[in-house]
Amino acid sequence: MKYWRTPLDLDRVKIPRGTVHIIIERCKGCSFCIEYCPKDVLAFSEDYNRKGYHYPKVLETGLCVNCNLCEMICPDFAIFSLPEPDPADSVDAPQAAAAIEGAVESAQRSTAGSSAN
Ligand code: SF4
Ligand code: SF4
Repeated sequence: MKYWRTPLDLDRVKIPRGTVHIIIERCKGCSFCIEYCPKDVLAFSEDYNRKGYHYPKVLETGLCVNCNLCEMICPDFAIFSLPEPDPADSVDAPQAAAAIEGAVESAQRSTAGSSAN
């Protein structure tokens, strides 16, 4: 972003980064998350989910600013973002990432199970 004047605290402000998680089987392909993402992080995948919809995919990692707009706008709770762990934090990043992946897989399984019934 190009500023017409330089903010005094520019060197102190850290741009947040996020990781997008998509629960593929919940998506109904409405494209809200893709259209309204302010950083154009998302695009439709060429693949289909079990309901027959194209679902979003992340175009390029490292662009998401964790604004959570996709999460707020999705009518089916099929997408969310989480802040990327700061290496300076004491949180065990690989352990936290594994816990998140486990939660997403669990949500995928429960959605797939309920749609099969
Ligand atoms: S959190 Fe914000 S920047 Fe990241 S994918 Fe969602 S809408 Fe885009
Ligand atoms: S807003 Fe939700 S339902 Fe719509 S395309 Fe994005 S993930 Fe799928």
